[in-house]
Amino acid sequence: MKIVPISLPTPFYIGPVNVYLIAEDPITIIDTGPKTKEAVEALRAGLRQAGLAVSDLRRIVLTHAHEDHCGMARTLRDEAKDAEVLVHGWETGHRAGRLEYQEHRQLLVRAGVPPDEVEAMRQVYDDVRQYADSLEEDHVGELRDNAELEFETGALRVVHTPGHTPGSCSFVREADRTVIAGDCVLNRITPNPILSPDPIDRSRRFRSLAEYLVSLARVRSFSPTLVLGGHGDPVHDFEELFNRYLRAIRERQAQMIRLIPRNGASAWEISRALFPDTDDVHRFLAVSETVAHLDYAHSEGKLAMEMGDGREIYRKLAND
Ligand SMILES: [Zn+2]
Ligand SMILES: [Zn+2]
Repeated sequence: MKIVPISLPTPFYIGPVNVYLIAEDPITIIDTGPKTKEAVEALRAGLRQAGLAVSDLRRIVLTHAHEDHCGMARTLRDEAKDAEVLVHGWETGHRAGRLEYQEHRQLLVRAGVPPDEVEAMRQVYDDVRQYADSLEEDHVGELRDNAELEFETGALRVVHTPGHTPGSCSFVREADRTVIAGDCVLNRITPNPILSPDPIDRSRRFRSLAEYLVSLARVRSFSPTLVLGGHGDPVHDFEELFNRYLRAIRERQAQMIRLIPRNGASAWEISRALFPDTDDVHRFLAVSETVAHLDYAHSEGKLAMEMGDGREIYRKLAND
């Protein structure tokens, strides 16, 4: 059972996305690339090299529903008649365009993002949405944790690895401990746990960093020899990356706590102090990362948090 990486261009800052072809029955692609002319052409070329066409695809599996990974799912499904699309039930972006704006709006307001910035972020959501078509509920099957995706000569185990998004999944070939990890594991950058509503109680915030750390430990429990991420080169030394991620997360947390002024601050204010030069989507990613770290520090008892004026205000503990 051969896993063939195909690199596709994206219009996003992150650069090309890796999708993975398993060219044996049922012919399967893991992730699709964004819905752009360039990506669809690159995908066709990649399939052609393997002696295949889009119409041969039988199964389209999504690691998560960000546009660079799920954008073409609908197009491919329509062209490869009756191909099955699979995604985890906690993932929602493939349905309505990634961000259900109203729910996210509340989360942004609580994080202290000012109204004009919330409006600017809405514009960013709308812009990104053009790179994916939404899939109807009955077009999609559910990936379940621990299930097996079977192939002619092997299988991939589905491992739910929430954090980057609530429904992110990885796929493990246990025979040689290869992991296809989507954006859970990336070679050069620490993946950003993205601000999302909690899939169980959508009025709450998903505890993305705490979940992410559990997911990393779960990937580690397979002792991977090769991790194929959604962007960049494969990871051969997962242990080194695991330790590097933990160090980066600890350092970032300490840095954020240091930045909190005496009288407290919102996540937005802390994110602006930490990343003063960001704009566009990066302001959203900055506040998203900040909230994830503050939530985690708060759950560890390292910070106090209280509501003031509809915003969450973080304070250092009295003895710090
Ligand atoms: Zn992603
Ligand atoms: Zn990605």
